[in-house]
Amino acid sequence: MDKYQILKKYFGYDTFRDGQELLIDSILSGRDVLGIMPTGAGKSLCYQVPAMLMDGITLVISPLISLMKDQVGALNQAGIHAAFLNSSLTVGQYYKALDYARQGRYPIIYVAPERLVTEEFLDFALHADIAMVAVDEAHCVSQWGQDFRPSYLKIVEFIKKLPKRPVVSAFTATATKEVRDDIMDILLLEDPEVLTTGFDRPNLYFGVQAPKNKYEVLKNYLEMHPGECGIVYCLTRKGVEEVCGKLREDGFSVTRYHAGLGDGERKRNQDDFIYDRYQIIVATNAFGMGIDKSNVRFVVHYNMPKNMESYYQEAGRAGRDGEPAECILLYGGQDVVTNQLFIDNSQDNRELDQVTREMVAERDRERLRKMTYYCFTNECLRDYILRYFGEYGENYCGNCSNCLSQFETVDVTETAKALIGCVKSSRQRYGTTVIIDTVHGANTAKIRNYRMDENPNYGELAKVPTYRLRQVINYLLLNEYLTVTNDEYAVVKLTAKSEDVLAHGAQVTMKMAKEQEHTSGEKKEKKSRKGPAAGVTGAEFTEEDEKLFEVLRGLRTEIAREEKV
Ligand code: ADP
Ligand code: MG
Repeated sequence: MDKYQILKKYFGYDTFRDGQELLIDSILSGRDVLGIMPTGAGKSLCYQVPAMLMDGITLVISPLISLMKDQVGALNQAGIHAAFLNSSLTVGQYYKALDYARQGRYPIIYVAPERLVTEEFLDFALHADIAMVAVDEAHCVSQWGQDFRPSYLKIVEFIKKLPKRPVVSAFTATATKEVRDDIMDILLLEDPEVLTTGFDRPNLYFGVQAPKNKYEVLKNYLEMHPGECGIVYCLTRKGVEEVCGKLREDGFSVTRYHAGLGDGERKRNQDDFIYDRYQIIVATNAFGMGIDKSNVRFVVHYNMPKNMESYYQEAGRAGRDGEPAECILLYGGQDVVTNQLFIDNSQDNRELDQVTREMVAERDRERLRKMTYYCFTNECLRDYILRYFGEYGENYCGNCSNCLSQFETVDVTETAKALIGCVKSSRQRYGTTVIIDTVHGANTAKIRNYRMDENPNYGELAKVPTYRLRQVINYLLLNEYLTVTNDEYAVVKLTAKSEDVLAHGAQVTMKMAKEQEHTSGEKKEKKSRKGPAAGVTGAEFTEEDEKLFEVLRGLRTEIAREEKV
């Protein structure tokens, strides 16, 4: 049989998708590969098809038991003998599976990474013909990746022990350069074929809103999408319980998923959603890895996730069938605080030394910041996402809340000058809030304490509302006219581009949503009402929002705690 016959016979497909063939051919020619493809692109086939054509066994390393079960179940249903070896087996089952493996019954075996270098497994592997080690979710080897698993480091240890080096193939949906380099370095890939397929998902609409009342907005949204399947992500288990409970009371067909539920209920709820017995699942980020449900029409983030990687992965579960689908993020200042707390109290990196841990926390803060900018950018959201992952999009996609709201190009040079000037005149010692308050001429205790009321830029732009100053400073940060330190203080610093504005007459222009025209009678509602597809562009921040921003901009955990998380 050749690869096309395998594809047809076992998987029932006639053609390969973008990139699959190249990776399969490389593997079959004995070359290592790294496949970077978005969720849903079809990475599994890239190692499953060659596994059926190679002499010897393919070991697939996967981080989650549920993922292994799903895939092994699907393979067996398709008529491919496959097994998994992980902690969900009893000792008896485990030895039996190993025994069958020894007899060569399985072309494909899924193994949990921590099993690889155990005595029993090595005893098998050292005497077997291992043709390929396929590393799924390979970003787990990277400490800069969002789901670093120390046990993934055992993969290389294992490969080194083998008498004959197998082909090593690695797959991930995380496209950042750091992670990609880490995968190649840590897994010791040899001259790999690296394939990145485009990350854009044109059928997905992206929207951001910052509503006062998230639940109302969610409810309205769901009412406008009757009969559609979707996921609502919350940051915490408590959030899941609350939102799911309210939706149920309001009569929606909804179930829930988080790590606090028992195995049985989790599985049941997941299946209820997958098999359309419930339309909506409210879940934490524990839900979704490896889930293959094609008709998810919307993914609503009830809270902002911790970084763009998580966001795009979770949002990307919408529209896998290629039909139009929507990804809506409901931003609230509290989300920043909660994420900040997660970072400061992270238990994930306990095994790392102090210095590395601090580095990881710094990266996480930087990622959180970029995620937050996403919620505030006035530019095309798709473009923002693609740029984050190192691709170039166009400035205008026409299918995101920013592109669909009305833009105008505004010259903000004067505002930029004042803000940058203030950073300079106060000798680069303060966070954004102090800078904004100074330029705005606020009379707060902090301003008086730091004597910023004596600063030459004090009150220079008293007439510009603080939300506008915030938008401009975000824009300056985003475009490297200014930068902030990565520590918890997030001090604003000058960059090489700062002087262009201050001294060399560079103009700064920014695309901003037009202040919406309101017909008579609607005027009073201006602040509180936003249509479902409206972005946060032009949103006015309350004092409360501003306070929460301050947390993002560098106040410490203690203060965040006082905000009663
Ligand atoms: P990923 O791991 O990249 O997120 P999967 O391997 O889980 O994606 O595949 C996602 C879906 O795409 C699966 O339902 C799979 O059967 C389907 N798929 C993969 N390759 C093809 C193909 N060549 N033609 C049609 N469907 C495919
Ligand atoms: Mg996968």
